[in-house]
Amino acid sequence: MKVYKFGGASVRSAEGIKNIAKIVSGESEDLFIVISAMGKTTNAMEEVLDFFMKADHEASIAKLQEVENYHFEIIKELFAQPETGFSTVKPVFDELEKMIREGIGDDYDRWYDRLVSFGEILSTLIISAYLKESGIKNIWLDMRKLLVTDSNYREATVRMTESQINLRNVVDFSKNKIYIGQGFIGANIIGNPTTLGREGSDYSAAIVGNLLSAESVTIWKDVPGILNADPRLFENTVHIPELTYLDAVELAFSGAQIIHPKTIKPLENKQIPLFVRPFNDPTAKGSVIKATTEKPIDVPVLILRKNQVLVTMRPRDFSFVLEESLSKAFAVMNKHRLKVSMIQSSAISISVCVDNTRYLSGALDELANDFKVSYNENLELLTIRGITDEIIEKTTSGRDILLKQRTRRTGRFLMKEK
Ligand code: ASP
Ligand code: MG
Repeated sequence: MKVYKFGGASVRSAEGIKNIAKIVSGESEDLFIVISAMGKTTNAMEEVLDFFMKADHEASIAKLQEVENYHFEIIKELFAQPETGFSTVKPVFDELEKMIREGIGDDYDRWYDRLVSFGEILSTLIISAYLKESGIKNIWLDMRKLLVTDSNYREATVRMTESQINLRNVVDFSKNKIYIGQGFIGANIIGNPTTLGREGSDYSAAIVGNLLSAESVTIWKDVPGILNADPRLFENTVHIPELTYLDAVELAFSGAQIIHPKTIKPLENKQIPLFVRPFNDPTAKGSVIKATTEKPIDVPVLILRKNQVLVTMRPRDFSFVLEESLSKAFAVMNKHRLKVSMIQSSAISISVCVDNTRYLSGALDELANDFKVSYNENLELLTIRGITDEIIEKTTSGRDILLKQRTRRTGRFLMKEK
């Protein structure tokens, strides 16, 4: 069997969903299909949540209405019998509205997972119903009942053993050839919905691939495959046909948007190849990530990670015992879910580059107990793999660089945003 994953961009319109039907009907193998929320639905649901958390239930429901309208427009265009589509998702919107009207926004992270997870429920219900209407038999699965995770809300990790038992209990390819489940979502051991981190549907696909020992996992995207840089940010990008798991981990860690960093390990563990293919050109080969490749990547790879903050800490007690300070600082940052992408230490201070998230201020408060903390916002981190002086010149000249690190192969430049 194979796992196919379709991201938000491939399901943002009726046309995209029709294209999925075409791709799926051309596949003769058994399929498990993992699908993200449609278009920008996750962002919209985050807004629904924000109003809800401010106890502005009317604004929250008005926003939800926009989400509903968007889905209904797609259904109208998609189905021969739109009523089938409406009746599939109407109860879900009613349930959501009830949750918002009656709920009390006490815990942001928990409510995030409870509400935002519905984006994927909606998209999969619509697509499953549409495929059925088009004569493509399939079974819809609720991943909140199958993927068991820890309770790290908004950034949960899947528990493989329990999830495997659940999944293998319901998936039987001798009975059905196609199963459809949501990316991004699961539930903890007591059944509270969890999400796996933004863009986490790739990780879901990899988990399903691992648990069902898939022959391959394919991520269908709105790009021709993996490129050496984001074409929206850099000129003259080139296609990379083959990467090793290690290459992919490095790229994802540096902030390449192409795959979620947690995606690779479950695949590597079972040596399952990961294909990245363009959904608007299903005959194109795209890129493949696997254990070994014919030749190493021979073009420089550029990755830009925006919205970074440089945090500098000096121990208040002037102990300068770096090991102790480091472990203290990292414990706090870990607790507040800060993702550290660069570290620099000196005799008297530690500097880290982190994503600017809603957790930052809490972390800074707590760090201030033990450290004198200062920070710079609005930075971007450029990672160049396969570095040359020419590329450094081209990408960083005239830029205000706050921190740089260079090894033989890789250079990292933390700069003020343009
Ligand atoms: N819908 C989620 C997001 O937008 C998960 C995903 O698309 O991978 O982050
Ligand atoms: Mg997405």
